[in-house]
Amino acid sequence: MTQKNAIVWFRQDLRLADNPALNAALDAGHAVIPVYILDDENAAEWKLGGATRWWLHQSLTSLQDDLREHLIIRQGDAASVIQALIEDTGAVAVYWNRCYEPWRIKRDEAIKSGLKDNGIDVESFDGSMLWEPWQVLKDDETPYRVFTPYYRKGCAKSEPRKPLDRPDRITYGDHDAVMGHVDDLALMPDIQWYDGMAAFWDVGEDAAHKRLQDFLEGGLKGYKDDRNRPDMENVSRMSPYLRHGEISPNQVWHIAKEYAAANNIPDKDIDHYCSELGWREFSYYLLFHFPKITWDNLQDKFDDFPWDESDSEELKRWQDGQTGIPIVDAGMRQLYETGWMHNRVRMIVGSLLVKNLLIHWHKGEEWFWDTLVDADLASNSASWQWVAGSGADAAPYFRIFNPLLQGEKFDPNGDYVRRYVPELKDMPKEFIHKPWEAGPLILQSAGVKLGEDYPEPIVDLKESRERALDALQSTKQSD
Ligand SMILES: Cc1cc2nc3c(=O)[nH]c(=O)nc-3n(C[C@H](O)[C@H](O)[C@H](O)COP(=O)(O)OP(=O)(O)OC[C@H]3O[C@@H](n4cnc5c(N)ncnc54)[C@H](O)[C@@H]3O)c2cc1C
Repeated sequence: MTQKNAIVWFRQDLRLADNPALNAALDAGHAVIPVYILDDENAAEWKLGGATRWWLHQSLTSLQDDLREHLIIRQGDAASVIQALIEDTGAVAVYWNRCYEPWRIKRDEAIKSGLKDNGIDVESFDGSMLWEPWQVLKDDETPYRVFTPYYRKGCAKSEPRKPLDRPDRITYGDHDAVMGHVDDLALMPDIQWYDGMAAFWDVGEDAAHKRLQDFLEGGLKGYKDDRNRPDMENVSRMSPYLRHGEISPNQVWHIAKEYAAANNIPDKDIDHYCSELGWREFSYYLLFHFPKITWDNLQDKFDDFPWDESDSEELKRWQDGQTGIPIVDAGMRQLYETGWMHNRVRMIVGSLLVKNLLIHWHKGEEWFWDTLVDADLASNSASWQWVAGSGADAAPYFRIFNPLLQGEKFDPNGDYVRRYVPELKDMPKEFIHKPWEAGPLILQSAGVKLGEDYPEPIVDLKESRERALDALQSTKQSD
């Protein structure tokens, strides 16, 4: 019996192992036609940013290699592309793993019903969640807004699904369709911005597993205590791999748990690591149940917040890592150079932007969207709302990080600052987080002229804190 062709539509699951859609096509006895579609048309305002485009280029190149050059690459409206490919390849079925962004849900529902009406077998699967958003609800069937009870309920409900093995063999379908090439998508940035990213990251499914293994061996022990230290190697940097689906959260969860059990890793470390994967789930959960979080405050009382819209120069200094506040500048430069920033520092730079500078969280969200290799609509929106205090389970607005104290606590020797702000490399550790307090002799021996080699602080931290608290008070009065 000749096998019938089935399209396996790769989306945010750029891997062969633990890929339920791919497995289902093979289990059904189909010959596989793997396809990737860059659908900027439907993404509208959430088209991929520059850094994720760079990553996607590398990731598709790697996937193409793993699929032995069988991946068809297209761009445009996904519904039209799939329809044309069905005609060109004679496919009788289409399989994909689900995505949860509001625009994708809307588009996929329309594609599914259109194809079904035309007699095509369409099936979608859970390939990127520990628990899908509708699986964890409060007893009264409404969604949680607070992380801890949500996560507890998820864990109590079921252990995340065990990952599927990489198929031993893939049979590819014959067809005459044009293959397309990753270069056709023009994903690489026009400007020579990505050298730092290319030096920092290995991209692709194998690289994801290697990075996870390195973290398990070198960073999992001590994770709970040291995951807040940007100067240390105790976080996994799994986020861009998860974002593009080069590894699934189920793989990370189970591989990490098995490693911990076999290697006497303290429970507190592995449990905390899994709960951070839970934060990713919670972000998707919020996006699914409250799709407005991408742009509108989840808490309406922030709608009248008196953001300062007057000075775009301050935003530019923040983006460029030229605020004169070392831990902030280190983070913003790490972001631009590598496409990634440590979580603790994301919170610090976010707090400076929305609280000390009173700049709308949208501006931070947009900059991160463009510059993060892990830019993810769920985690980015939910996290910016968390920082601003306008989201679910958010840090209360009045909790304003003092970046100087944060720097001293989490980068105690200043190594992280020295790495990304080389102007300050000779500052003694007592002043590395507050060069403006160093006397002239200390500055001179460190070779720093404030205002020339390195900026004066962009704001007075104490005054701007008071200003932020006054602004908050005004929203409370309008409650
Ligand atoms: C303002 C702001 C914006 C953010 N934007 C994004 C984003 O666009 N994409 C993104 O993936 N993460 C985002 N985060 C969350 C977090 O900073 C990153 O997931 C984390 O730094 C990734 O590094 P890691 O993989 O080494 O994390 P690890 O500490 O090793 O954690 C393992 C995994 O857990 C998940 N995770 C950890 N912390 C969080 C968190 N707070 N929220 C959601 N998931 C989490 C990630 O998938 C991460 O890869 C943002 C945080 C802030 C404060």
